[in-house]
Amino acid sequence: MRLTRNKVKDHHIKYIFVTGGVLSGLGKGVISSSIGKILQLTGLNVSCVKIDPYVNYDAGTMNPVAHGEVFVTCDGGECDMDIGNYERFLNIELSRDHNITTGRIYSEVIDDERQGKYLGQCVQIIPHVTDAIKNKLRKISIQEDLDILVIECGGTVGDIESLPFLEAFRQMKLEEGDYNTLFVHVTLAPILDVVGEQKTKPTQHSVQELRRIGINPDLLVIRCKNILSDDARRKISLFANVNSNCVFSCHDVKSIFLVPEILAEQGIVSIIDNKLSLQNLFIKWSNWKLIAKSFSEYSKEVYVAIVGKYVSLPDSYVSVYQSLSHAAAKLGNKLEVAWIDSEKFDTPTKEKISVLKKFDGILIPGGFGKRGSEGIINVANFAREANIPFLGICFGFQLSIVSFARNVCGIVNANSTEIDPNTCDPVVEFMPEQKTINNMGGTMRLGSHKILINSNTLASKIYSNNFIIRRHRHRFEFNKNYLSVLSKNGMILSGFSDNEKRTEILEIPNHKFYFAVQYHAEFDSRPGKPEQAFEAFIQNASLKS
Ligand code: GLN
Repeated sequence: MRLTRNKVKDHHIKYIFVTGGVLSGLGKGVISSSIGKILQLTGLNVSCVKIDPYVNYDAGTMNPVAHGEVFVTCDGGECDMDIGNYERFLNIELSRDHNITTGRIYSEVIDDERQGKYLGQCVQIIPHVTDAIKNKLRKISIQEDLDILVIECGGTVGDIESLPFLEAFRQMKLEEGDYNTLFVHVTLAPILDVVGEQKTKPTQHSVQELRRIGINPDLLVIRCKNILSDDARRKISLFANVNSNCVFSCHDVKSIFLVPEILAEQGIVSIIDNKLSLQNLFIKWSNWKLIAKSFSEYSKEVYVAIVGKYVSLPDSYVSVYQSLSHAAAKLGNKLEVAWIDSEKFDTPTKEKISVLKKFDGILIPGGFGKRGSEGIINVANFAREANIPFLGICFGFQLSIVSFARNVCGIVNANSTEIDPNTCDPVVEFMPEQKTINNMGGTMRLGSHKILINSNTLASKIYSNNFIIRRHRHRFEFNKNYLSVLSKNGMILSGFSDNEKRTEILEIPNHKFYFAVQYHAEFDSRPGKPEQAFEAFIQNASLKS
């Protein structure tokens, strides 16, 4: 959606920097996305970048339980989960370049140094690393013809590793001009139970820390439980040296998609408009408010079990949860999710596994490695036998094949070579292309691939098309030597990619809903426009018995 550049009076690209203080996990990603969304709704061409100051090259090798989901971009980038927030809020697709890490910046600087590009200079954090950071941000804005780029810096102000990035932001204000840069600082106003008053001191200290490194915030967004009191706002304004109309309350709301509205109601548009010298911006909400409202208006509940390996941190499956909630909101359902560790069902008794009977649907998301895999296989089997709507994704797809092969086709030793490398019946095996790969980072089958869908199948009904394009992240795949035995026993393999080489979709007829996919359907779901497999799953789950 590119409406206009003439709203930007001076035709200059504008940069909005979002930093955070006090503690991490404040929801900076949602706030950055919301600011981006509001500006997009005024007709500007907006995009977002996430900076992760850790040294990893990308998020691909990071533990999802510690860091949250690895979000995959269409071009195969393994990114921080905030990229998913940006895509969902702004309804855009981002490239891997929108996630910048210290590792990426340093490896580029070092490559350049090795190629002799610094012509004998001593390569330093300032100016060489900061230049590399600034160049990256400018390049994205120019290449994508943006009006506004929102740049979120992960971590909290005061972290050693984020210093070069904050220094680059500081320099950009000088170089791009005051009217072309805006600094947003996100902090927390906690309430101590005994006193019940919103505390402003952490914000004061965090702003001081930001100032110490040369950045004066233009706008403060304060996360709080209840709406920020006038008293707290006044105090923050005075001590942080920010006008009180530039102190925004970002209190808890029923859905993250309501955040753009609460910021807009407090006048954020005119503040940004004035500071960035824009042209009397006006928000055209179109259907956004209705979509946001749909997340808090429902008639009945749908209760879904997510059975996976990384359930101790729901953020490890944030896109899966989001996709379910998009589907539930669209269909007028209240989504209730139970996070269940698959390891619990590794050696289940009949009674133990039948606790899953109470769910309207069972979803098995992606995962890696042996731990908890037998539990997944058992749950995939239980959902089939108990006729409970079932959706499997990636690992969930692969292990529902193992479960079907063992329990329906009688191939008792069927397995994935990821779990048992010596299995005599490798129904899921290492992709041949993967065999020569040694490095772990960025080497899976990643990103978007086209999938052809067979006609007269559930998949063709769900997608109303004979092809889809979806994102991937895997090293193992269904072994097609077992296709005929699975088909003979009633499983329908209905989607294929890479010239029929790879199997992407399975379904079991005469079941309420049994559908599993090799691709990560969850990365293509949007509020108001759920990914179709999720929508069909929730629709069937909500029918109850
Ligand atoms: N571990 C499996 C593979 O590598 C599944 C990956 C996933 O679920 N993303 O193929």
